[in-house]
Amino acid sequence: MTSTATAPRRDLLQIRGLSAGEIVTLLDAATKWLDPASVSDRLAGRTVINLFLEPSTRTRVSFEIAAKRLGASVVNIAAASSSLVKGETLVDTARTLDAMHPDAIVIRHPSSGAPQIVARHTRAVVINGGDGAHEHPTQALLDALTMRIRKGRIDGLRVAIVGDVRHSRVARSNAHLLTTVGSDVVLCGPRSLLPEGIESIVGEAPGKLHATSSIDEALEGADVVMMLRVQHERQQESFFPSIGEYRTRYGLDAERLRRAKPDAIVMHPGPVNRGVEVSPDVADGPQSVILEQVANGVAVRMAVLDGLVGTRKTTD
Ligand code: ASP
Repeated sequence: MTSTATAPRRDLLQIRGLSAGEIVTLLDAATKWLDPASVSDRLAGRTVINLFLEPSTRTRVSFEIAAKRLGASVVNIAAASSSLVKGETLVDTARTLDAMHPDAIVIRHPSSGAPQIVARHTRAVVINGGDGAHEHPTQALLDALTMRIRKGRIDGLRVAIVGDVRHSRVARSNAHLLTTVGSDVVLCGPRSLLPEGIESIVGEAPGKLHATSSIDEALEGADVVMMLRVQHERQQESFFPSIGEYRTRYGLDAERLRRAKPDAIVMHPGPVNRGVEVSPDVADGPQSVILEQVANGVAVRMAVLDGLVGTRKTTD
């Protein structure tokens, strides 16, 4: 990961395309930052811009804490307070920010591909904080770190990803990561919420990715059960009859969880629709690692910022 101002810049735009070795290297680096007391001056004098054009609690705060623990200055820009509401294009916003020489731009955007556009118009390192239904790379990395801590490995696991797969960038990034490192992934949801061709998600890993509309089948023997939020904001039409029916058919409760392995862990990227995709007793129960995911997110983002920005000379 070494580079200089003249060496090509390294961004983190997606998990797709990363090798198993690169993923493991990032997880190893994150492990060093797991202690919440670990701080450093590796990014002293550097500026990280959080350009969040869609709501976020966990990811935005996590990147801010990560950057500050590494000694960087952080500037937060939210949609409502940016010139995008005055009609400025994303390209002009990227160029404007670039003129102020930030070292990194973390971008969240409702449109898939927005981070790639920003990357073409800035010298700063660009990190995707979630773009439309495309990818959320640091979420998949923190999920993998949580699995590795809890299960001792990330290869050879059976991972059930259940819910609104169609609109989930978390499902996509996880599917790429987990199949790359050799785990089996079962995508599960109502037929209307499964992506049209699952091969389009992980064309390069046939055999490692399956889809089913039966939650019982998906949970059978699972080491990890990852529940997804129903993404109403990305649904222009009705994808299932009612929330009540969704809960009955796809909600995870204690009884359903018994189909998974006895030591299975329950994950959710948040925000959780309590009582819809997960019952409160499971969300707060002994198998839930939801808050550990949040904690591990800071370590992952420290590793990403350090690896991409800390090793790079400042832009002139
Ligand atoms: N926080 C995650 C995301 O931004 C999951 C979600 O919103 O449901 O994709």
